[in-house]
Amino acid sequence: MKELIDKLYKERNIENNALCQLIALADNSQQELYLFEKARQKKEEIYQDKIYIRGLIELSNYCKNNCLYCGIRAVNTSIERYRLSKEQILDCTRYGYELGFRTFVLQGGEDPAYSDQDICDIVRQIKEEHPDCAVTLSIGEKTYESYKAYKEAGADRYLLRHETATESHYQMLHPEKMSFKNRQRCLADLKSLGYQVGSGFMVGSPFQTMEHIVADLRYLQQLEPDMIGIGPFIPHHQTPFADKKQGDLHLTLRLIAILRLMFPNALLPSTTALGSIHPEGRKMGLGCGANVVMPNLSPLDVRNLYKIYDNKAYVNAEAAEGIAILKKEAEEIGYKVVIDRGDAKK
Ligand code: SAH
Repeated sequence: MKELIDKLYKERNIENNALCQLIALADNSQQELYLFEKARQKKEEIYQDKIYIRGLIELSNYCKNNCLYCGIRAVNTSIERYRLSKEQILDCTRYGYELGFRTFVLQGGEDPAYSDQDICDIVRQIKEEHPDCAVTLSIGEKTYESYKAYKEAGADRYLLRHETATESHYQMLHPEKMSFKNRQRCLADLKSLGYQVGSGFMVGSPFQTMEHIVADLRYLQQLEPDMIGIGPFIPHHQTPFADKKQGDLHLTLRLIAILRLMFPNALLPSTTALGSIHPEGRKMGLGCGANVVMPNLSPLDVRNLYKIYDNKAYVNAEAAEGIAILKKEAEEIGYKVVIDRGDAKK
């Protein structure tokens, strides 16, 4: 096993069956520890002891889609909906800038109430006030023309997880109206427009198999994204997947480590979902190859409402408090949170 890990470390690639063996390593085994150690070493070669932060602003929990796993799906009438105004969003970025954020991620449901013009205005104004910051959008599937307009307004990056690279699996997670082909068309458009692109998938999503995971890794090799976000699937009680099993902590950690070895330069977030299934989850992610954290900058009164899954962590921490907790976690494992846009190393 050690040889396989060394091979992946050196060559960034191994065959499918070797990959399966690494993915299936036993929790807390010697081999798993070795995998984590090599991933950490690779992370430090490229990014030293730096941890990059992104201020996450959850724009709106209105969504026109009905992804079967997501708590803010359109048909969920039991939740209170909110939408931030342009001024509220700008206030979040002003406060975030003071706290040391140099990247803002605007994420939300697919809320048709924001026109392309609105999104462009918001992006333009953030870039005008903070020209040293990167603006990342994560507002779902749009047309080429919309993506182009956002880019021209100054957006630097776009996060859109592919969710799963296997069409039959994609169809099990999404309503018939949504298509695998459109999701992948979006990612291709974003790349061709020159965005720094982030993609990824949920670990342990319902019906996911080892073959699906391997296909996800192969798909990512083709796409070559700058950022890869993965986190455990967590059920939400008001969705069709309410009774499905949550994604596994160690499987997520092994996949982060494998991603670090396959994609040495990638930005790999240690996600809120990971931090939500274990009190030390986020720190563990940083200890096995992740190098990005996205603390929540949304106003406290709406933060509780952006519930894409149950038991979401950090919903009550003030942004400044959130940063303090994170700095401490980073220090505990010998890393430091830096004030930086945190672009991917080429
Ligand atoms: N509407 C945007 C943002 C979605 S939220 C978009 O379509 O990209 C960001 C990510 O959260 C999703 O891509 C999905 O992978 C993840 N997510 C959604 N529901 C989840 C759940 N129940 N458990 C874990 N992750 C979830």
